[in-house]
Amino acid sequence: MRYAHVVVDIPTRALDGAFDYAIPDELADEVQVGTTVLVSFSRRKSVGYVVAVTDAPVVRIDPSKVHPVLQVLAPPAFDLGAARVASWMAREYACPPCEAIRPFLAPGQLVKVRREGDEPWQLVCERSGPVDVRWVRLAPAERPFEPRKNASRQRAVLAALAAGPVRMAELSATIPGASQAVSALERNGAVVVESRRRVRGGNDTSLSSAQAPRHERLTAGQREALAAIDAAREAGAGDVVLVDGVTGSGKTEVYLEAIEHAREQGKGALVLVPEISLTAQTVGRFRSRFGDDVAVLHSRLSAGERYDQWELVRQGLAHVVVGARSALFAPLSEVGLIIIDEEHEGSYKQGSAPRYHARELAARLARERRCALVLGSATPSVESLSRCEAGEWGGVRWTRVSMPERPGGATLPKVSIVDMTRQFEEGNRSIFSSELRGALEEVLERREKAVLLLNRRGFATFLMCRECGCVPECPHCSTALTYHERTHQLACHTCGRTWPTAAWPDVAASCPNCGSRYMGAFGVGTQRVEDELAMIVGDRAEVIRMDADTTAAKGGHQRLLERFDAADCAVLVGTQMIAKGLDFPEVTLVGVINADTTLKLPDFRAAERTYDLLEQVAGRAGRGERAGRVIVQTYWAGHPAIQAVARHDRSLFLAPELEDRREANYPPFARLANVVASGRDERAVRMTLDDLAADLRRRLQGQPGWEVLGPADCLKARAKDRVRRHLMVKAPANANMGGLLGTCARELGRRPGVSVAVDVDCHDLI
Ligand code: ADP
Ligand code: ZN
Ligand code: ZN
Repeated sequence: MRYAHVVVDIPTRALDGAFDYAIPDELADEVQVGTTVLVSFSRRKSVGYVVAVTDAPVVRIDPSKVHPVLQVLAPPAFDLGAARVASWMAREYACPPCEAIRPFLAPGQLVKVRREGDEPWQLVCERSGPVDVRWVRLAPAERPFEPRKNASRQRAVLAALAAGPVRMAELSATIPGASQAVSALERNGAVVVESRRRVRGGNDTSLSSAQAPRHERLTAGQREALAAIDAAREAGAGDVVLVDGVTGSGKTEVYLEAIEHAREQGKGALVLVPEISLTAQTVGRFRSRFGDDVAVLHSRLSAGERYDQWELVRQGLAHVVVGARSALFAPLSEVGLIIIDEEHEGSYKQGSAPRYHARELAARLARERRCALVLGSATPSVESLSRCEAGEWGGVRWTRVSMPERPGGATLPKVSIVDMTRQFEEGNRSIFSSELRGALEEVLERREKAVLLLNRRGFATFLMCRECGCVPECPHCSTALTYHERTHQLACHTCGRTWPTAAWPDVAASCPNCGSRYMGAFGVGTQRVEDELAMIVGDRAEVIRMDADTTAAKGGHQRLLERFDAADCAVLVGTQMIAKGLDFPEVTLVGVINADTTLKLPDFRAAERTYDLLEQVAGRAGRGERAGRVIVQTYWAGHPAIQAVARHDRSLFLAPELEDRREANYPPFARLANVVASGRDERAVRMTLDDLAADLRRRLQGQPGWEVLGPADCLKARAKDRVRRHLMVKAPANANMGGLLGTCARELGRRPGVSVAVDVDCHDLI
């Protein structure tokens, strides 16, 4: 008799392991590691995942008491290596085992089962239709089809198809709204959609818009990086190479060549890029080098499309997976490289369970697959830099290779800092300093392009009391209400409620705290910037605004960038989202309107994030033949993060930052976890966290390097009428936090209506 070790899909911390089930003879061939099965669990039918198959029960019990596996619901989705990584993830991040396994399942597979009459149970799936891969190609025609003038998506689809057929899933991945555009084109007889069981060989499929031409000569830095990556891959131990290359230094070229080398050895690659940079341009570069060997995976795809891409990988038809964070879960068995581009990005930390950090998960996966992990960034995280400094972390080598130059003689832009307090003293009340205004004038005269960054957080307009500093908050959420000039409304960005200013009791007129009548709008809204900019620019250039409002519609982001690209002379004004990945050689000026608003956030990473943002946005200037210039406006000109950007010298920021962190015992010198309890019943929330804190303190007594802080109200003490309290735990940098926090959370007395979220290596402290 063989036994299946099964993780049942009941998401509670109370179940922290797998259970044994006997495999009936008739299912012997079907039940394998990775299969989804139906089992009975405390007298109910439950879905479960097989994580091991053994000859004897893993848990010591009488074999005759072991229940049988009832049915196989889905074929294997993951292998033993992936099962081990999932188990590590559950322990490391203190989440229920089934939540750590779910990301490895076939996209669209839901936990629910259904049965009709005496029929066998069936999994309920989100996706529909056949496993076939849908391809789109241009219909043979005498004359090329001309879409209507405003049909920009149809144009984008046609451009993508110009070089040959492309998979539907890929079009959807790279062109927002592609499926409607394809349907419309199909109705007009311009394209043909066909299902194919097999993916064609060869690499005659490519997006014409984004080629990755092979460069004749690699720079010295590129050659060194490539050699280090090859060596790490050949060592087969999970070694890490940090490619520390300035913006525009050609990191993508290094990734492409490294993947080619891995493919020559029959190995594949997982490539992670931040969701926002997963554009036609990025994917196109990979596709033009690897053709049909590329699969694209990310959350904007429909479940069916994601499934098609996933299935290509599982069947061994695609070996280069390009995607967001979740690409780490792709069923690629022979992995040679895992690449994380822009590794410093906060979005690599998952905000809901399993709350993993892609960098840590990738490092664990690289050890399991005996491959290399490549991290790339112009502004590497403090964690990665310090591990490279040590040369070793988690039993593997960490090596940093620097690429300080842009290829072909392009130079990093010159950065000037403008001290806005001086501007104020000099009587300039404008948002634009005289320097920035002058530089804009020059751009307009020379018919070039400029990018202006509004540091979004803290940039909205608040209503503030000039006498006591009170800022009115939403009564349901502790979020400062923002003031919208155009509609005269106060809005809460947590719950979405709005009030006409007149209806808000007294606030528009007087302070709820001190009764003062001097309530004023504080901070400058995007609209005010836009208005002032319009006065400077007039009709000499196109002004394109890019922020959460203008990109809310599907494909909004891409459309605005296309407009900027097509314009002859234009200014792009936007929030954080413009800092990344834009590669427009005509941009000769980058202006930062308010560099320091993020410096004041109550988060120990505030300075690091500000430095990253400024250095990245500065990198948008001067990528072409003409040199670029960067102007940073700030009220805090002496801050190390700002000085470091001004001189393109990271050490100016890093040295004092590391000193501060060492003193305050923050990462990378310690680990930090945040435990948030929330619920409608404040007393229950308080008691839950008080119990947890007491239990933790008791267990940690006398353990050096551990510290429990709180409990206290969260900075956002209320959200959607739920009370939020938290406690923080600090631990030595190599401590097993998940183990302890998981145990404590499991043993916590359950209070109905209170949920407890454990966030190990937390990034969001608010
Ligand atoms: P990064 O990702 O480091 O910001 P990219 O990979 O986007 O930089 O490269 C910047 C530009 O330099 C691209 O246009 C790329 O084609 C070009 N490039 C990369 N490597 C070379 C090289 N060895 N010689 C010439 N141009 C190169
Ligand atoms: Zn007041
Ligand atoms: Zn609210």
